[in-house]
Amino acid sequence: MDYYSRQISELIEELSKLPGVGNKSAQRLAFYLINRPMEDVQKLSDTIIGARKNVRYCKQCWTLTDQELCPICSNPKRDRTTIMVVEDTRDLAAYEKIGKYEGVYHVLHGAISPMLGVGPGDIKLKELMVRLQGDVREVIIATNSSLEGETTAMYISKLIKPTGIKVSRIASGVPVGGDLEYIDEVTLLRALEGRVEL
Ligand code: ZN
Repeated sequence: MDYYSRQISELIEELSKLPGVGNKSAQRLAFYLINRPMEDVQKLSDTIIGARKNVRYCKQCWTLTDQELCPICSNPKRDRTTIMVVEDTRDLAAYEKIGKYEGVYHVLHGAISPMLGVGPGDIKLKELMVRLQGDVREVIIATNSSLEGETTAMYISKLIKPTGIKVSRIASGVPVGGDLEYIDEVTLLRALEGRVEL
């Protein structure tokens, strides 16, 4: 890309490292940013750095938040005896958007995948088991319906069964391999309401 000057090429290169951004989009973004007013670009850059610096895991549910406890865990109206296990913070957001779930969450940050070398120790499973020592009546497993999501669901259910806590799995109807965040709210609500005990 030596037909662009060094700083333009560097900007394009950095942008093309973002997920889903190919070289063409990176070029488009780079020229867009270069043509924006300075204060807009400054604000974007400050926002990225601020989020990166301050966002951390909620110490209860492990979702990403900028507080010690996320807004859900710090809400006294949420039912702490029901924990929904999701793969990532975006899945949590998808369920929150329906506005019908009153329990709390547990974010695993991934799913077990022998193929990719992701084992039970690489996701927040130990942390889930610690939470189950408290007063918990039901664990709803809402991992994706991909192979990894199903493997994880099975693993968790085997782990929890001996504790006597009720374990359920969201109903199928969530398309196989479908990322939860792309599924419409009606489908998600149906999957949640039609959950089956494992
Ligand atoms: Zn939380």
